[in-house]
Amino acid sequence: MSNVPVAVVTGSNKGIGFAIVRALCKQFPGDVYLTARDPGRGQEAVAKLQQEGLRALFHQLDIDDLQSIRALRDFLKEKYGGLNVLVNNAGIAFKVHDTAPFAVQAEVTLKTNFFGTRNVCTELLPLIKPYGRVVNVSSMVSSSALGGCSQELQQKFRSDTITEEELVQLMNKFVEDTKKGVHDKEGWPNTAYGVSKIGVTVLSRIQARLLNETRKGDHILLNACCPGWVRTDMAGPKATKSPDEGAETPVYLALLPSDADAPHGQFVSNKTVRPW
Ligand code: NAP
Repeated sequence: MSNVPVAVVTGSNKGIGFAIVRALCKQFPGDVYLTARDPGRGQEAVAKLQQEGLRALFHQLDIDDLQSIRALRDFLKEKYGGLNVLVNNAGIAFKVHDTAPFAVQAEVTLKTNFFGTRNVCTELLPLIKPYGRVVNVSSMVSSSALGGCSQELQQKFRSDTITEEELVQLMNKFVEDTKKGVHDKEGWPNTAYGVSKIGVTVLSRIQARLLNETRKGDHILLNACCPGWVRTDMAGPKATKSPDEGAETPVYLALLPSDADAPHGQFVSNKTVRPW
């Protein structure tokens, strides 16, 4: 078994995830895994970094596929005895003009952004080694979508005692409410992507609390963040940040020094803790 520190970035064959891997290859003292659901696109991305003189390793990972997540888990356990840095970056967004019914957008978006990310956490968080760092890439849109929720929902999402099961129930309720056409009446905002990212931010707050309760002595720091508005296939060419600039805050959180005890359980953008 290798004693080399190891970092994993989900959805990193392109966009912000690719830039996060590039930065980690330069700054992280260990093995960096570029992961992709499609091995062809993943290997191509690894080759691109190689041309830049950077060495990333590849492992397949589709966060929608529990078997794929568990295969990565078993690989990490066997080869490294755990994991030092996990960046949950993989995500999807329907284009503004997409004509798919809102209920379909809700189900598909939540499936990857919330439930897929949660499944990765369920399988990989137990592997995180002492002084490990976990970064969940959320979005400022989670804050604005929170503001668009009913007072009752806002209270639940801001609660310091909400459990993962309660959060999962709420995310499922959103999808069901869109299918019944009652999401407006039930206090939800009109954004599937926004609700999925509320899920990611609140999940991060819950996970950080659980780490405090169960593994306080391990000094693990886990946060959610917004990369900013970044020029990728998701956000388009008009966005203000380059992918490398978008990677800055996630990489800052992934490389928090071993003597840091904060931020933890926070929502961070531009390397600054934001109120939730
Ligand atoms: P992107 O260019 O579309 O890249 C998304 C990446 O996620 C791709 O590598 C994609 O793989 C991967 N992915 C999607 N579904 C996956 C799955 N089921 N399993 C594994 N990988 C999957 O988007 P981006 O702009 O870099 O976004 C990265 C993250 O930042 C997302 O979580 C996004 O919500 C967040 N974010 C972006 C912005 C922005 O302005 N760009 C702002 C705030 C937050 P494929 O190539 O196979 O599709």
